[in-house]
Amino acid sequence: MTTELHHFVAGKPAPGTSGRFADVFDPSTGAVQARVPLAAADEVRAVVGDAARAQREWAAWNPQRRARVLMRFLDLVRSEEDSLARLLSSEHGKTIPDARGDIQRGLEVVEFAIGIPHLLKGEYSDNAGTGIDVYSMRQPLGVVAGITPFNFPAMIPLWKAAPAIACGNAFVLKPSERDPSVPLRLAELFVEAGLPPGVFSVVNGDKEAVDALLTDPRVEAVGFVGSSAIAEYIYSTAATHGKRAQCFGGAKNHMIVMPDADLDQVTDALIGAGYGSAGERCMAISVAVPLGQATADALVERLAERVRTLKVGASHDEAADFGPLVTAEAVRRVRDYIDIGVAEGAELVVDGRGLTVAGYENGFFLGGCLFDKVTPEMRIYREEIFGPVLSIVRAEDYEAALRLPSEHEYGNGVAIFTRDGDTARDFTTRVNTGMVGVNMPIPVPIAYHTFGGWKRSGFGDLNQHGPDSIRFYTKTKTVTSRWPSGTKEGASFVIPTMK
Ligand code: NAD
Repeated sequence: MTTELHHFVAGKPAPGTSGRFADVFDPSTGAVQARVPLAAADEVRAVVGDAARAQREWAAWNPQRRARVLMRFLDLVRSEEDSLARLLSSEHGKTIPDARGDIQRGLEVVEFAIGIPHLLKGEYSDNAGTGIDVYSMRQPLGVVAGITPFNFPAMIPLWKAAPAIACGNAFVLKPSERDPSVPLRLAELFVEAGLPPGVFSVVNGDKEAVDALLTDPRVEAVGFVGSSAIAEYIYSTAATHGKRAQCFGGAKNHMIVMPDADLDQVTDALIGAGYGSAGERCMAISVAVPLGQATADALVERLAERVRTLKVGASHDEAADFGPLVTAEAVRRVRDYIDIGVAEGAELVVDGRGLTVAGYENGFFLGGCLFDKVTPEMRIYREEIFGPVLSIVRAEDYEAALRLPSEHEYGNGVAIFTRDGDTARDFTTRVNTGMVGVNMPIPVPIAYHTFGGWKRSGFGDLNQHGPDSIRFYTKTKTVTSRWPSGTKEGASFVIPTMK
């Protein structure tokens, strides 16, 4: 029997009324396990109306009371982390320990947002002019929306919702239609934690629901994470409709391997960052750039052996290094890229296309693949593959290696592995990329710093979480005040200056 999922509106589950549904699969078996309703525009408008009503009351709560709700939410999520991780893994296909990481990185932003009384403190200038005080305060925007991808169904909704709610906004989430069950459960836990109904809503859907959010005048800001073409569309459409937007897109993250790096460490780092979560991470390393032929030959030899012996299994298999891809369509897309790479002349050192997992013959599996001698003109280098495929691009020298991530159209993350501080320092300063790791393959910044890529990996001005998120989800009001002592100065026709 297939479960029928719902939306979450006004503090409770609400069935879809559009009559349209999408299938939610168990990627390990390939079976449909649920149907998710796809909201029509009028359903989205009703959710926004409800959120707008709830937001007025919520914004009047003092920040400390709002933080207490987030504290309770944190405890509730922690208390059912096991079942949430299983649910997440069953719809996404990532392993259960990896699903726990997805939840944990989301909770860290909730922990950050609990500091909201401190984070919302404004600015104050005493006696800016004689008897004049100037102060700035941060006020919530109103209703804000989040549109999120399939690959982190707990982390990314929480990265957006926690700061937005803490600032006093109502948040409408449109999660990925591929794995909506964890966001729906998080919505229930928010209400259990004491969040007033309507402050966090979930509306499931596709382009129709997204367009309804983008064109609704009551939605003040839109936060998006997903592929770059959609990020650009959301950014420009939101701007046309007068909204604030921060939209994060795809990636092609490089790892530069200097000849002095410890190749055993490098190999471990590349195996984890390239193949973990089947490569379905926006911060996955998909390109390794060893310097010089000797480093490249030694690295490829080590990697090939490890990639051939990767354990691929059902998402709940405790022995699996990674599980299936999210859909059959994702497997087809990645396989097409492997065909393209071979046709383009790259050397397919390990071919994972023949993999089957016993007992799970209909699952969406693909084994690890390794390409050597990839060049910057090839499509497998220029485009995001989003699967368990690592490409080696051999660089002659440091400047050539530095140019590769710097000139790539994506600019999300990059890493350098070296034992030389001078090289690392030069690299971090000059590379044209938003997030940099030094001997760290996946440099996802911690919750109280900010996360954001450059170039076609990020559209908008402010990053996610950290201090930028408080700026994004509030507007600044600046008050200039004076309490005159009865002196009458007469009208002034000159712009006020602080003499
Ligand atoms: P996606 O772009 O297909 O979907 C993202 C969201 O947009 C979903 O909620 C989806 O329903 C919606 N959407 C899809 N098509 C739409 C359309 N035509 N109009 C309006 N909305 C639409 O992305 P995905 O496959 O779910 O996620 C994978 C992508 O996300 C990868 O490109 C990955 O690099 C990227 N990603 C980026 C980051 C980052 O922080 N930069 C983080 C995670 C994932």
